[in-house]
Amino acid sequence: MERYEVLIVGGGVGGLTCGITIASAMHKPWFGDRKILVIDDGNSDLAKARLFNAPGICPGTSGIETLETMRSQLLHYPAATLTSGSVTDVARVGGDWRVTTHAGDLHTAQTLVLATGFKRWDIDGLPVAPVPHPRGGKPDRIMLEHDGVYHVAPGLHVAGLLGGGSGQFAIAAGIGAQVAVELLSEWAGKRTHMHHLPETPQ
Ligand SMILES: Cc1cc2nc3c(=O)[nH]c(=O)nc-3n(C[C@H](O)[C@H](O)[C@H](O)COP(=O)(O)OP(=O)(O)OC[C@H]3O[C@@H](n4cnc5c(N)ncnc54)[C@H](O)[C@@H]3O)c2cc1C
Repeated sequence: MERYEVLIVGGGVGGLTCGITIASAMHKPWFGDRKILVIDDGNSDLAKARLFNAPGICPGTSGIETLETMRSQLLHYPAATLTSGSVTDVARVGGDWRVTTHAGDLHTAQTLVLATGFKRWDIDGLPVAPVPHPRGGKPDRIMLEHDGVYHVAPGLHVAGLLGGGSGQFAIAAGIGAQVAVELLSEWAGKRTHMHHLPETPQ
């Protein structure tokens, strides 16, 4: 069982953006040999959309195609792995998270990022519970309370709309990127962000 530095549950907009942003730092000396895993069970809201107002996305692009592009962006980085599966249980064992899928696969990680969207809450063993989402647009939408930069509990972060953002692609992506930047800054030992110039390794 490989141990990951970060395990992201949910490979929709927020989770993939978080993973892409983290993995894009893999050439930094302080990144070390960290590995990231994204687990997803294929129910992103984006798959139902056709995008005309998502910044940087060619108007009329389907959500399905956008998700495929984002998955390719993630997998461009050898530090990242994407696997399909439904996470059913998590447990804190020592300082790590032990994550179990419906198929019985086990993974361990130091940091867990929940990016499961604002409609579902079906993972056992989490030390927190969702609250009603004030910007979700419908009464059954949920979010997790956090410290303002999406840190929920020791070793636990929330990304995407479960972090409390309204239902737009750019907002879900932005929360994913913010979580990534918080983790990268912790690893770098200083505030950082990831920018690539034409001459830097991609
Ligand atoms: C019909 C429709 C049209 C839309 N059109 C637009 C638009 O035009 N413009 C715009 O800006 N936004 C649009 N959106 C909104 C956009 O799709 C969302 O803002 C975005 O998908 C939210 O990202 P997220 O990461 O929070 O959740 P999602 O993208 O829904 O991702 C959550 C992921 O978590 C996975 N997951 C959940 N629980 C588990 C688990 N236990 N184990 C493993 N995986 C799990 C799901 O399978 C899913 O892939 C639209 C949404 C819908 C429904």
